[in-house]
Amino acid sequence: MSQRAQQDADLETVIGLEVHVQLETETKIFCGCSTESAAEPNTNTCPVCLGLPGALPVVNEAAVEAAVKVGKAIDADIPAETTFHRKNYYYPDLPKNFQITQYDAPICQDGQLEFAHEGQRRSVGIRRAHLEEDPGSIKHVREGTGPLESRTCSIDRADYTLIDYNRAGTPLMEVVTRPDFRDPGEVRAFLEKLEEVLEYLGVFDPARDGSLRIDANLSLVDAADVNEDGSIDEDVLADANRTEVKNISSHRGAEDALAYEASRQKKLIQSGREVEQETRHFNETHGNTVGMRSKEEEKDYRYFREADLPPLQVSDWKQEIAIPELPDARRERFVEEYGLSEEAASKLTSTKQVADFFEDVAERFDADLAATWVADELLGELNYRDMRITDVSDRFDEVTRLVELVAEDEITAKNARETVLRDMLDEGDAPDDVVEREDLGKTSGDEVQQAVVAAIDENPDAVEDFHDGEGGAINFLVGQVMQKTGGSADPGEVNGLLREELEG
Ligand code: ADP
Ligand code: ZN
Ligand code: MG
Repeated sequence: MSQRAQQDADLETVIGLEVHVQLETETKIFCGCSTESAAEPNTNTCPVCLGLPGALPVVNEAAVEAAVKVGKAIDADIPAETTFHRKNYYYPDLPKNFQITQYDAPICQDGQLEFAHEGQRRSVGIRRAHLEEDPGSIKHVREGTGPLESRTCSIDRADYTLIDYNRAGTPLMEVVTRPDFRDPGEVRAFLEKLEEVLEYLGVFDPARDGSLRIDANLSLVDAADVNEDGSIDEDVLADANRTEVKNISSHRGAEDALAYEASRQKKLIQSGREVEQETRHFNETHGNTVGMRSKEEEKDYRYFREADLPPLQVSDWKQEIAIPELPDARRERFVEEYGLSEEAASKLTSTKQVADFFEDVAERFDADLAATWVADELLGELNYRDMRITDVSDRFDEVTRLVELVAEDEITAKNARETVLRDMLDEGDAPDDVVEREDLGKTSGDEVQQAVVAAIDENPDAVEDFHDGEGGAINFLVGQVMQKTGGSADPGEVNGLLREELEG
């Protein structure tokens, strides 16, 4: 197409992702060092993960098992034999000067992941998902007296650089999608779903810093080159100049970086300029992307087989590796089994912990009450405080006790919600303590009855007014009873009891 025509054409956005996921294992992928992230810098290291001469890697069974689980969850082919390669490059965070990764025989091939976006089911192809080791982490620092964290800066402003090899050798899975995304919003929905699935599998900790890192590829193609079914031919994809935005650390960041990149490329094309094939960096604070380097090519890495690791046979073993019920299946079951709305079921299945907790509460009391208290009240209050379910997972017994107090009519739902739950979250109090301190226990029938009798005895004028047909008198007496019961009686009920006493 001529350049003129290109400038006027409608453009379609094409996006593909490479997502690096840290797998939750006790020890690193090729040595026995701990993966504990809070350790002092450079204490979880050994000759293998420091790349000392002669040290030999051994594959961590738990990392392979986690990878097989991911493969099953994304419906991927898991070949009978899978191999490791060396990806060679020099960077200080990589002590061996190569990264052990997988190349032409990755452990997961040709999978897919379904997710919902703007009310529609979408499916994105996953070309491959392979195992590799994480490099160490790097911190650029400026001289000064303040705490280290306040002196970290970009490389060009740094006086020196610190390297921590604790992370080196943490098992990673790189999930490479097909370029099936058509807008940045879809990417965010996909990432949310991917995290859900990984978390259900128990192979991933979303709260861990840097546990999910995204490289996002974007190109614009002529809308006329999009086939009727929405697919785009391989040669069109290969010809499109694309940029890769590296190392994005959040779902929101991915969406923002891609939205910026799409409009940047569009402006270039519309003004008749070329999109350069390059690697770019997303600046989270400024919301823009800046060029880093021209895109490296595969040949730059001189991939060759890792001779220190024999091919890995997983064909028999993989049969024994089971995965739990995944979010989609569980959501459908919740709708059927508990009669929940799609919306409530989605909320309740978004993390395994919430879903497990809901089922636990539903079994003890009833499903509607459990759905209200877990999906609406608890998640709502957590969300309001920017807290996660994991922040309260050791207090599920207390939340269950709160639901019990409501289920057994010992406190009103209003007090449970507005006082007890909030105090539990803000002050760390136990529900029974809040009820006692705030005197929220519903007054028993006898006490209300006594208060009614006392109010009548003490207010003969009002009783007379009542018999004379003065409407306000009953309200005055209700007020007296409410005062005596500290507001815990039900006004409607009090009104009825008073009338019974006065008329009966
Ligand atoms: P490379 O070998 O250059 O890394 P790959 O084929 O491995 O390229 O793809 C890397 C990533 O780029 C994948 O996530 C893929 O979906 C994405 N991708 C491929 N073609 C395009 C394109 N035309 N536009 C956007 N992303 C693309
Ligand atoms: Zn080690
Ligand atoms: Mg690639």
